[in-house]
Amino acid sequence: ATLKKYLSNQTVSKILSPKNQLLEISLHKVIKNQKFLEEFEVYYQPIVNINSGQIIAAESLLRWQSPELGLVTPTEFIPLAESTGLIVPLDRWVVRSVCQQIKTWHDAGVPYLKVTVNLSVMEFNQPDFLQKIVEFLEINNLEPHYLEIELTESMIMQDVNSAIATMNDLQSLGVSIAIDDFGTGYSSLIYLKNLPVNTLKIDRYFIHNVANDSQKSAITKALIEMAHNLDMQVIAEGVETEAELSFLRQNNCDAMQGFLFSRPLPAAEFENFLWNNKRLPRLPV
Ligand code: C2E
Ligand code: MG
Ligand code: MG
Ligand code: MG
Repeated sequence: ATLKKYLSNQTVSKILSPKNQLLEISLHKVIKNQKFLEEFEVYYQPIVNINSGQIIAAESLLRWQSPELGLVTPTEFIPLAESTGLIVPLDRWVVRSVCQQIKTWHDAGVPYLKVTVNLSVMEFNQPDFLQKIVEFLEINNLEPHYLEIELTESMIMQDVNSAIATMNDLQSLGVSIAIDDFGTGYSSLIYLKNLPVNTLKIDRYFIHNVANDSQKSAITKALIEMAHNLDMQVIAEGVETEAELSFLRQNNCDAMQGFLFSRPLPAAEFENFLWNNKRLPRLPV
């Protein structure tokens, strides 16, 4: 009844829908029973240097294969995990798994590469967050520069000063930082120059059809130039066509990820890409 006072009927029925209740019960169960390994899996999407064509990094993306619900995508379960606090153990498990995976790849002799991890603001703000990062790096004997944390603008803007402090601590450790989905939040360009950020990821909204949309191309060009002036590397997200790629290449974007090169893959399939030296083909300019 109190919910109904503040929310629209549509929102209330969404929250209380049988599907969401089932989702929440299943999510609680899997986390409480520590059954992460059985139902969750980290996928890896290659990030490719636009000039050399080589894979330089991977973004880790969580997948949930629920026995009750089938494959559930992060857009469905992350908001629920956040509103119930379950995101904290979940994100921790992802960071730990990613550190283990990087170590396994290094031991197997695959070319060294960086992996990025998406974090929820709740995990980022935990008092023992940095301690956990250090712990996961140390138990895997992993150099910190192989790990990159992705944060969104809105996460940072919730409490800028405290976010900057944590970001500085991460960088002092040697862990790098990317701003994810750039351009979709409140772009505080004034803050951007003060933020300790290594990488700017342009949201796929701007990249979709960028070559044929004069507004998107103007914005994308400006973002690339601005990031370079601030000494940041630029990654374009969601690249799906050769026209988009050519545009990015012509405008000095550093790296790309997207279905054009590869969808997110299970670790073993991603590793095959590395062994086979899969590259971005040269395109006619
Ligand atoms: P994101 O960090 O912006 O990740 C990029 C999303 O774009 C991924 O969706 C990816 O599969 C999708 N994508 C990549 N290339 C293309 C493309 O060419 N076209 C299109 N249409 N989509 C593309 P996904 O895997 O469903 O993840 C959605 C969001 O969930 C992520 O957005 C991220 O914010 C969040 N997320 C994923 N894994 C985690 C995690 O471990 N922890 C937390 N807290 N959030 C996560
Ligand atoms: Mg991301
Ligand atoms: Mg993104
Ligand atoms: Mg996102």
